[in-house]
Amino acid sequence: MKIIKTIKQMQAFSLKAKQSKKTIGFIPTMGYLHKGHLSLIKKSKKENDITVLSIFVNPTQFGPHEDFKKYPRDKKQDQLLAKKEEIHIIFYPSIKEMYPTDYLTSISVGDIENVLCGKTRPGHFKGVATIVAKLINTVTPSALYLGEKDAQQVVVIKTMAKDLNWRLNIKSLPIIREKDGLAMSSRNKYLSSDERKQAVCLYQSLKNTRKLIRAGERRSTKIYKQIKKIVLKNSRARIDYIACVDTKTLKEEKMISKKILIALAIFIGKTRLIDNITIDV
Ligand code: AMP
Repeated sequence: MKIIKTIKQMQAFSLKAKQSKKTIGFIPTMGYLHKGHLSLIKKSKKENDITVLSIFVNPTQFGPHEDFKKYPRDKKQDQLLAKKEEIHIIFYPSIKEMYPTDYLTSISVGDIENVLCGKTRPGHFKGVATIVAKLINTVTPSALYLGEKDAQQVVVIKTMAKDLNWRLNIKSLPIIREKDGLAMSSRNKYLSSDERKQAVCLYQSLKNTRKLIRAGERRSTKIYKQIKKIVLKNSRARIDYIACVDTKTLKEEKMISKKILIALAIFIGKTRLIDNITIDV
C-alpha cells in the first residue's frame, strides 16, 4: 500500500495504471473508517485492478458552526484498516493541496442541493460536489463507490456526472448498520452511552414506516406523524427533517405511488444523524 499526498503524483500514478489498461475503483471518504467504508472498499477490490481510497476532511462542506474541527480523525487506525483490505493507494492530500490560497471555483448542482440536508446545511452540497469533482479529476477512476447512507449525496454526484458528461461508472451500495440497526457513521463516536441507546430510534422509525406502507398507508403526512411519535419518545431527540421524496428528483411526494426515498435527519443531543430507506410500492 502506498500513500500519495500530492495531486501531481496521484495523477501520474493513475495515468500509468491506465496506460497499462488497469481499471481503477475509487472510494472518497473523510476517514475514521468503519465497516460502511470497508464495504465500498471490498466491492471496489472485487471489481477493479486497482483500488484508491481518499481520506480528506473537506472544510468546504462544513458550515461555520459545524464540526469540522472536532470531526474524528485517526490516521494510524485508518492506515491499518486500509492495509488489511489490501488497498493499493491512499490519497491523503492536505487542505493546501486541494485548496491553494488562490483557489476560486465551486460547482453547484441546482435545486437538488437545497432540499433535505441541503436546506439545513446551506452550501454543504456545493462543497461536496466541488471536492468530488476535484478528486475525480485527480484519481481519474473508472468506477466510483458511494454509500446509500448519504442518499442525497449519491443523487447530487450522479447528476453532476451526467450533466458534465463524465465517463464514470457510479455504484451506490447499501447502508451498513450496527447490530441494533443504527447506521454506521464516523459521527456515532460523538454519542454518549445514553444517546447511543436513543439513536436506534432513527432505524426503528424507518422500519415501522416500511411496515405501514406494506400495510397500505400511502399518505406521507401519516407516515411523518408515526416517525415523529417514535423518535420523540426519546428525551435527547430533536427532528431536523423527515421527508418522503422521489428517488431521482428529491421532490416531495404527498401520496406514495412509486419508488420513494424516506429520509430523515435527527439530532440526538448535539449530534446530527441521518438515515433513510427506499421503498418501491
Ligand atoms: P464519509 O467518510 O462519511 O464521507 O463517507 C464516505 C463514503 O462512505 C460515502 O459514500 C458514504 O455514503 C459511505 N458510508 C458512510 N457510512 C456508511 C454506511 N454506514 N454504510 C455504507 N456506506 C457508508
